[in-house]
Amino acid sequence: MTLQDNKIKNPEKGLPLGEDLGGAVLIIGAGLCGSLLALRLAQRGFLVEVFESRPDLRKVAISAGRSINLALSDRGLKGLRLCGVEEKARKLCIPMIGRLMHDKESNTFSSNYSGREGEYINSISRGDLNALLLDEAEKHENVTIHFNHKCKKVDIENGIAFFINSETNEEFSVTSEVIFGTDGAGSSLRKSYISEPKFLFSYSQNYLTHGYKELEIPSDSTGNHKISKDHLHIWPRGDFMLIALPNLDGSFTVTLFLSYDEGEYHFNNLTTEEKITAFFEQEFPDALALIPNIKDEFLNNPTGPLGTVKCSPWFYKNTLLLGDAAHAIVPFYGQGMNASFEDVVVLDEILNQELESWEVVFKEYQKARKKDTDAIADLAIDNFYEMRDHVANEIFKQKRKIEMDLEKYFPNQYFSKYSLVTFNEHIGYEEAMKKGRAQDKALLHLIADETVQTHQNMTKNELKIILDKVMAETTEILKEDSIAKL
Ligand SMILES: Cc1cc2nc3c(=O)[nH]c(=O)nc-3n(C[C@H](O)[C@H](O)[C@H](O)COP(=O)(O)OP(=O)(O)OC[C@H]3O[C@@H](n4cnc5c(N)ncnc54)[C@H](O)[C@@H]3O)c2cc1C
Repeated sequence: MTLQDNKIKNPEKGLPLGEDLGGAVLIIGAGLCGSLLALRLAQRGFLVEVFESRPDLRKVAISAGRSINLALSDRGLKGLRLCGVEEKARKLCIPMIGRLMHDKESNTFSSNYSGREGEYINSISRGDLNALLLDEAEKHENVTIHFNHKCKKVDIENGIAFFINSETNEEFSVTSEVIFGTDGAGSSLRKSYISEPKFLFSYSQNYLTHGYKELEIPSDSTGNHKISKDHLHIWPRGDFMLIALPNLDGSFTVTLFLSYDEGEYHFNNLTTEEKITAFFEQEFPDALALIPNIKDEFLNNPTGPLGTVKCSPWFYKNTLLLGDAAHAIVPFYGQGMNASFEDVVVLDEILNQELESWEVVFKEYQKARKKDTDAIADLAIDNFYEMRDHVANEIFKQKRKIEMDLEKYFPNQYFSKYSLVTFNEHIGYEEAMKKGRAQDKALLHLIADETVQTHQNMTKNELKIILDKVMAETTEILKEDSIAKL
């Protein structure tokens, strides 16, 4: 069978279940990645059948506790642009120009994400964005989304997916020529790779000792935000931290990242109102004043784990893992969804090559993509330490100030690691990581070098000297790294 056979021949919406899907493409999971993938494949002319375990989120309220809002940045926007939905998504966004740090005495200081004009990240509701993508996918005659259908396993040898309908408890199987697993970090397709020892499948899942819990700062009585909506708020406290992202209705979603069982306060011992209040009074007094329902929310909202999934290969025969199913990462770079949308862009580019079979497409896709998702997984762990600790550190602040100034005065020459990862969609995560880390090293050397003058308000000429030194040392570091790999 060639790829052309999967294109529409007779686009009848809704195929009978329990049967061979014939030429249709099967997608398991209609979350952020699966719904964008369905939209793109439909635009390319494929007949697409999507099976989602949960009810339709446009009809029922989504439950609290699963990252209610997310930071959407350039790589994610690139995926939305590819599918013609960027402008619609932007209407759901609140731009955040930088971080606003809160110390224990309730003082704040800000640090922009970039010194260049127009570089910011966006807070967006997971539910609203997912609903937009489902709407857009369903506008296509050749897409059908079946809600309340959970995939139990996949016979990867024969391309058969087994489902249960959670409304009727009916179990059935669907045969398809090609199956995509976009069913998130607990992917049923990935589990089938593990349980069917048909090939050498490498897999690792590493949890942090920290989990997360979501709380809410409601809007004020006029429906407005109580603190700056132009920032991602951070309360960095070394071993733990609190963050808050704005919502369109004037509220903020607050997330506490805390150890399960280490330190004076941890999730396992914060079990009474008194303890929760004492913890927040001691560590986050200004946030406590903004969260009126802290006791109920803390005790009732779930605590979620934070983990990294790496695996290889991502495909077997005509099945492929995409998004979190292939590469779940911790949320500290705000890139999991962005990376999942970029997956769709990279797959689309491979499809443009008109290769002879899905298996070849999948092989080329993994070759092009894996190094970059491995890199963002590692960068996300690095940022865990940076956000909870280093952002409040004096050397870090000094380094960020120099970087801001370099980006402002030399916008086409200097891109910080954060900018390379977040705003530079034209290079892969791996390249961004290597260059960004080398620059960081060079800048820190320079700050430590007493023969080099750095101060708060450097002129453009002084900054040019710094830029030249940083670039020269960055080139040296990158050269040494590539020689060390030989
Ligand atoms: C606390 C937190 C904060 C985050 N913040 C950010 C951020 O700021 N920016 C960012 O870019 N990313 C962020 N992420 C990461 C982001 O949420 C994920 O990377 C993104 O949701 C991945 O999309 P996905 O479609 O691959 O997986 P998911 O969004 O998990 O979607 C999977 C879908 O598959 C369905 N499904 C699951 N199992 C089955 C099954 N067996 N059968 C059928 N359907 C199934 C699920 O119901 C779901 O709809 C954050 C994550 C967390 C946990």
